Amino acid sequence: MRLVSAFSTGMIAALLAATAARADTWFVEHVTLIDGIHAPQPDMTVVIDGERISTVGPSLTAPDLKSRLNGARRFDARRIDARRIDGTGKYLIPGLIDVHIHLRGGFEVGGNVDAELAPPNREEGLAALASFLYAGVTTVFDAGNRAEHILPLRAQERAGEILSPRIFATGNLVTYPGSHGDKMAVRISDFEKDKALLDRHIAEQQPDILKLTLEEEGWGSRPMIPLMPTDLLQKITRYYNQHGIRTTVHVSSELRSLEAIYAGSDTLAHPVIQGPVSDSFVKLMGAKKIPFASTLTIGENYSRLAEHPDYLDQPLYVASLAAAERDQLKTKTRAEWQARPWTWWMKIMTPIAKENVRKIHAAGGIVACGTDQSSGPATQRELELLADAGIAPLDVIRIATYNSALFLGKADQLGSIDIGKLADFVLLSKDPTLDINNAKSILFVVKNGQMIDERQLPLAGGRQKRRFTGG
Ligand SMILES: [Zn+2]
Repeated sequence: MRLVSAFSTGMIAALLAATAARADTWFVEHVTLIDGIHAPQPDMTVVIDGERISTVGPSLTAPDLKSRLNGARRFDARRIDARRIDGTGKYLIPGLIDVHIHLRGGFEVGGNVDAELAPPNREEGLAALASFLYAGVTTVFDAGNRAEHILPLRAQERAGEILSPRIFATGNLVTYPGSHGDKMAVRISDFEKDKALLDRHIAEQQPDILKLTLEEEGWGSRPMIPLMPTDLLQKITRYYNQHGIRTTVHVSSELRSLEAIYAGSDTLAHPVIQGPVSDSFVKLMGAKKIPFASTLTIGENYSRLAEHPDYLDQPLYVASLAAAERDQLKTKTRAEWQARPWTWWMKIMTPIAKENVRKIHAAGGIVACGTDQSSGPATQRELELLADAGIAPLDVIRIATYNSALFLGKADQLGSIDIGKLADFVLLSKDPTLDINNAKSILFVVKNGQMIDERQLPLAGGRQKRRFTGG
């Protein structure tokens, strides 16, 4: 389906006059557009004006339109020629969105929110942020971190001072004393008594989305811990909503997912991973359309390292991780994870979680892309696992773009390539609807209308070359 009718001659003349007058207007033409919502549309033109997409439509083909284009180009040929990208044989997708990360540098590597806290490491954080951009991820939501780590980076990203995907963050998460994620949480045991702590969290940390946890553990190889009472969850959820803030909740079972949904949660931070979901839960998720983060990678990455450490030699990992860290992962960390029951529990449960995600997607539920990890390659791995679950690659792209923008409550600004939206997208050399691995065939990444120069990214694997040589 075409989004808009073909450009009229008047439209294109006006467009190119405006193009000539503005240094920050440019376009990609003759590209196959995979806009995040619709089926692929061949031979399209996308015009970027400043930080936004100003026009999306079929490319010009008629000779008279060509001549007008050339006439307009003479208005300022040098500038326009530099700003025209030939997308022939290439694919444009929205920038990928990861709705569940814990940015590195705030805690133990590996994303374990229960690990002991180390001092914040800003350089590690910047390298991880660079790895997202390098892998085509233009937006992330940090679902719990040390406030003094993530919040200054969020401020710098918004000020345009660092090379980073858009950062949304909860800062500290909120939970019940002793419950899941307690170490980096604001601990609330009584709503009225502890309300001042919530007010302070809202005022000082300005969470974009509040992350809560509703998890007593007591499954897999983990002992039981205290659980937040659901009436407290409901009161906190309502309080943040009344401050204009969406919420997401860590849950891992069907029971706690239901409780979170009926306590008013806007999203869930995980799929059900403790066991197969019931048919009624699948129907409920299709009816309610509560977005949930897929987070298959976090559980799968342990046995992947234990059994197939060679993935660390893939180009995205080589660029994103220091050589010494990859060596350590292949040796010391691998041996540790091979010895842990958790690794093998999650290996058993990952196919079950995958099937839960697939069923809810098939029933019309809103799956969003989240990793619970902290690197661009991990987000790309999540795409692979979603495809491996039996979800069509085109739908996987929608999950990692438009659906993830729905999760964030930002679908009016992000998540698809459409007129008026922020210009976040990725040009690919291969068709990602044929094979989701082609989502890694990245030529360039654009955020806020700006093409990212990967030579400038402070990647842990070292400086990289530009991947796009045309246009
Ligand atoms: Zn998490």
